[in-house]
Amino acid sequence: LKQYDKTHVWHPFTQMKHYINEDPLVIERGEGSYLFDIEGNKYLDGYASLWVNVHGHNDSELNQAIHNQIETISHSTLLGSANVPSILLAKALADITPGDLSKVFYSDTGAAAVEIALKIAYQYWKNIDPVKYAEKNTFISLKEAYHGDTVGAVSVGGMALYHRIFHPLLFDRIETSAPYPYRMDGTPEEISARCLDNLESLLKQHHHKVAGLIIEPLVQGAAGIIVHPEGFLKGVARLCKKYNVLLICDEVAVGFGRTGSLFASEQEEAEPDLLCLGKGITGGYLPLAATLASEKVYSAFLGEASEDKTFYHGHTYTGNQLACSAALKNIELIRERQLIQDIQRKALVAARELEKLKGLAAVGDVRQKGLMIGIEIVKDQKTKALFPRDMQIEHQIILDARKRGVIVRPLGPVITIMPILAMPDEHLIEIIDTVHRAIKAVTEG
Ligand code: PMP
Repeated sequence: LKQYDKTHVWHPFTQMKHYINEDPLVIERGEGSYLFDIEGNKYLDGYASLWVNVHGHNDSELNQAIHNQIETISHSTLLGSANVPSILLAKALADITPGDLSKVFYSDTGAAAVEIALKIAYQYWKNIDPVKYAEKNTFISLKEAYHGDTVGAVSVGGMALYHRIFHPLLFDRIETSAPYPYRMDGTPEEISARCLDNLESLLKQHHHKVAGLIIEPLVQGAAGIIVHPEGFLKGVARLCKKYNVLLICDEVAVGFGRTGSLFASEQEEAEPDLLCLGKGITGGYLPLAATLASEKVYSAFLGEASEDKTFYHGHTYTGNQLACSAALKNIELIRERQLIQDIQRKALVAARELEKLKGLAAVGDVRQKGLMIGIEIVKDQKTKALFPRDMQIEHQIILDARKRGVIVRPLGPVITIMPILAMPDEHLIEIIDTVHRAIKAVTEG
């Protein structure tokens, strides 16, 4: 099996050196917080299977909901027809999301949800007034932003790694470059104010060219768990309104409880015009994504047939019944099990445990928002200098943790812990403690 994997499966980032040398981990089953490989080894899933798993693996109630749906129908198209789970889910999402988001456009990956939001935002202005808004053709996004890997999503991304080679295929975006809310001096209010000043000067200059601003609310995940200062998102939302730019909140990573509220935007009372959801939407069981639009945005797409304001975009599995019924059950279970309150409590447990890591010489920074955790590995705590890239220090650490029975992943020099949201406290503590020991073993010998 492992040989077939190496020969035939093109994994994301397969050709990176450490993947070529790694013994593939072939997962066979999951149970609660644990993943089991084909050799029968068990691992705590400290990565929630790429930030998606909410209630644990093999949850009997989620399984049952999916089984019930399979025995009814698995898929029919939303093109020209509707289906029960997608209708009920759209209603539920409209009810639980912030602001007056009332229209749900389904897709199946986070990148597609973003791509759809960008296309809607672009077309919105053309539909309203193609002459007046002829120039509103670009987007603002943040430095080191990550919004997915399709061409549009990469265009608004800010991580060089994903950009470099594809540059000729991408459209221009405007980056809110320095100041950037990371490692800046000052109180959160001061940092926030400086970042917002920078954004406002960009908007003053370019608003006539900007269709929308896209942001990962509160935390930039893939950038290495960069937590924004309090008030930043609120200010961004205010500036978008002031300069007539659509606010697109990408909650693919932070949505469904990850930061300690059902949606991160809620914490700063931001009311996006467009909201992108994915990852945790089905509790991590089936692929599904959604782009939610406000009534204001949607109404720009209505009109006489002769005007043709249609949004020409659609995916084959859009509104898939199986995925929608899993999402409905996920939302019901989050409420029934009072998961959000539990995440807030668990975030404090994690914070207490993370304090212990700060004593390690190789830990340059520990960042946390809810159950999103990033531990920056540095060669020098004072200067924050990193280890030489070819040492692949983070990979040594995650492999060491894996040997100790814990799966976590690196994002550049940052070890990220994204536990399953419903994971028991003792498993969460064990994951942090194991990462602690792995960092110590690799960096201190
Ligand atoms: N947006 C954000 C903020 C993400 O973190 C991700 C995935 N890590 C995506 C979009 C893309 O989602 P997907 O991988 O499902 O395409």
